[in-house]
Amino acid sequence: MSNSLLEDARKQLDKALEHIEISDDSRERLSMPKSTIITRIPVRMDDGTLKVFQGFRVRFDDSRGPTKGGIRFHPGVTLDEVQSLAFWMTFKCAVLDLPYGGGKGGVTVNPKELSKLELERLSRGYINGVADFIGPDVDIPAPDVYTNSMIMGWMMDQYNIIRRSVQPAVITGKPLSMGGSRGREAATSLGAFFVMRTLLPKMGFKKPEKTRIAIQGFGNAGSILALQLYEAGYKVVAVSDSKGGIYDPKGLDIPVIKKQKEDTQKLQTLYCDMSVCHIDEYQSIDNAQLLELDVDILVPSALENQITEKNAYNIKAKALFEVANGPVDFAGDTILESRGIPVVPDILTNAGGVTVSYFEWVQNRSGLYWTEEDVNERLEQRMVREAGNIWQLASEKKLPLRTAAYVHALSRISESMDARGTKNYYQKRDAD
Ligand code: GLU
Repeated sequence: MSNSLLEDARKQLDKALEHIEISDDSRERLSMPKSTIITRIPVRMDDGTLKVFQGFRVRFDDSRGPTKGGIRFHPGVTLDEVQSLAFWMTFKCAVLDLPYGGGKGGVTVNPKELSKLELERLSRGYINGVADFIGPDVDIPAPDVYTNSMIMGWMMDQYNIIRRSVQPAVITGKPLSMGGSRGREAATSLGAFFVMRTLLPKMGFKKPEKTRIAIQGFGNAGSILALQLYEAGYKVVAVSDSKGGIYDPKGLDIPVIKKQKEDTQKLQTLYCDMSVCHIDEYQSIDNAQLLELDVDILVPSALENQITEKNAYNIKAKALFEVANGPVDFAGDTILESRGIPVVPDILTNAGGVTVSYFEWVQNRSGLYWTEEDVNERLEQRMVREAGNIWQLASEKKLPLRTAAYVHALSRISESMDARGTKNYYQKRDAD
């Protein structure tokens, strides 16, 4: 992998550009983020000392609408990472035909080391730093790794205090009582579930009970997806979290595991210390072992760069579904492609979260709130439609699924860019 995550991500775009004609103007615009803000966030800690954290917000491209994307709290957050995540959001929103561009935010912090009050001060401090950069028609944040509805609620409240008005549409993924949408919590995994249910039979996995699945990451997306797959009759044989994982070739009892993790979570206020690897009925494995298990389907749902040139040759799964953003780097992807292992890309698989965020924003702006059935039905329609479109494009043009997804998104993005006038347009006018 190259040193920069953004450079690595752009290689995916360059590969897609070989298969679609777009204007030079569009290429130029997509090469770097539109704008970036870096903010220092002073936080009074419970012991009276002051700590200053670094926060970022990036708006990659807004040709299709206001920028949209989550805010991540993680010790590994860097500007390069946030820029790459904003880049992916641009394509993800276009794949799902949402009227948004791509954005992302983050704070370099280990939130598990903060008390709840410190976390609240940090969340409000972040908004103090970026308030002039976001807004319901400008840039709309949401949850991401280690942020949740409670944090989104604090952030929306802080934005409203600054603006002296109530603007729920500035942030999505809020608590229901503050204008959140029904179905948002489970949306990322439900979206992934719809994509898997649509594409697995096309890949030859026609019988759920014979399809063995390993899931890396037991956070919001991974744990709910494990349950949805289990309930639909699939055989989830391995799961893991940041501390390690468990494996049983006969299949895991996901409801029990999920409950065990949640019960312990109640003792903690916001983050869970209990790890799935403490569940001793099953064989313990580490994260590296999980990725290399002999399974049918591998679902990386944790962080970036899990499958690289170091382990891509050892992957035994027959197909991958990326629920995390960027879990397979460009070199890893190239190896999997050469080995004939299809990878259903993040910009399709995990797009259910931002799709229901869009529904939340629509509900906030119209003031009319939908039932959970309504939300899930609309989500299903979009996910199934776009999964089908990408599968068809990939089959027709003989492209890897990721490249097909980028081509599909690029045609929508470049159309919006060109509608504003391109070099060709002005040259043609001069000649008239
Ligand atoms: N953080 C999620 C993602 O990466 C959701 C973004 C959103 O809802 O705006 O897609």
